[in-house]
Amino acid sequence: MIIKIDDNAGYCFGVVKAIGVAEEQLDKEGSLYCLGDIVHNSAEVERLKQKGLVVIDHQQLLSLRQCKVLIRAHGEPPSTYSVAKSQGIELIDATCPIVLALQGRIRQGYEAMKQVAGQVVIFGKPGHAEVVGLNGQCNGEAIIVSHADELQPIDFSRPIRLYSQTTKSRDEYQQLIANIQAALPPQADFVAYDTVCNRVANRAKQLEAFAHSVDVLIFVAGANSSNGRYLYEYCRQVQPHTHLISNADQLDPQWWANAQSVGISGATSTPRWLMEQVKNNIL
Ligand code: SF4
Repeated sequence: MIIKIDDNAGYCFGVVKAIGVAEEQLDKEGSLYCLGDIVHNSAEVERLKQKGLVVIDHQQLLSLRQCKVLIRAHGEPPSTYSVAKSQGIELIDATCPIVLALQGRIRQGYEAMKQVAGQVVIFGKPGHAEVVGLNGQCNGEAIIVSHADELQPIDFSRPIRLYSQTTKSRDEYQQLIANIQAALPPQADFVAYDTVCNRVANRAKQLEAFAHSVDVLIFVAGANSSNGRYLYEYCRQVQPHTHLISNADQLDPQWWANAQSVGISGATSTPRWLMEQVKNNIL
């Protein structure tokens, strides 16, 4: 039986950068606070905890003083920067440059919409760290829409600027845009920006080819990875024999009992070493 790991699987450059920054600090100082899980993959978080990474939440941030705290690739709202400044906390900012640029665009859109009583709409997962950071650019006033048919919160009589969380499906975003356009009155002021990360959008197409090339696909992703959930669902449509696991212990040999080939792939938050571990457990 052939077992192969998807050459295109593994971290996106935003996550590579954040983990690189964390490891550099840990090698120098032996410990570092990180605001939220550095990546949506518990196995990788555990590895970094062993090296001295201490994961904290926003409540715990309030009790820290005079220390270093890492901001992960998802980014943070302006309130986090204010809290850090007032408490003498040095932020090690590993926000992905693409997310940072999107925050800036949304901030500009929000300022423009304030002048004309318009609305900023963000297509994303409510409560997701990136969405919280994006909404923070709008003083928390953006309308968050999580499905293409969720139009009810939008006021079509007012100007609209629409943005997407970077890790959402581009197809679903296009569907949302089409649904909004169909509901708009004539001469409506509506602009939609394509802000899905190319790394995520292109990944789906690459995965499709990989999923077709094997009899069984093992998809490795953290349970809390929205990118992982989306890519897994995408794979399942192409390859019905797709199985989602978050660690190598969850493998079931029945899955490949009659297969000639097994493929292993993962989300943009799945470390390469974890996919190697899965491969070794199948052998
Ligand atoms: S998926 Fe794209 S936007 Fe998100 S962290 Fe990775 S590179 Fe950055």
